[in-house]
Amino acid sequence: MKRRIDVMTTQEPPLCPRCGAEGLLWARVPHGWANAAGGAVEGRTGVVLCAGCDADAPGAAPLITWFHVHGQAQEQDSEEFARLLVAWAEQVAVPPLDEQRLDTEIEMWRRGDL
Ligand SMILES: [Zn+2]
Repeated sequence: MKRRIDVMTTQEPPLCPRCGAEGLLWARVPHGWANAAGGAVEGRTGVVLCAGCDADAPGAAPLITWFHVHGQAQEQDSEEFARLLVAWAEQVAVPPLDEQRLDTEIEMWRRGDL
């Protein structure tokens, strides 16, 4: 199965949702191969590559290094860049942020904080 990765090009650098710093790359990657019930879920989500947060993430280091060397993605860099991008995206961990937030809100509601 071929998984498509879209690199989103923005005027402003993407902000890392984890630390708030400027990220290196914003991409939309397929995610959610199985849900909690074991069923397959098809979805795409935006992920930000952050030099700080992703330094130790599998597959991310070569891509971060690439950005340090090249600055930013250019059309003509496509082959090496695409290879690194795919290597990263294959292993990118997509935290179930929405589910966690929902759980937190339910918990707060139960405690009467909402
Ligand atoms: Zn970060």
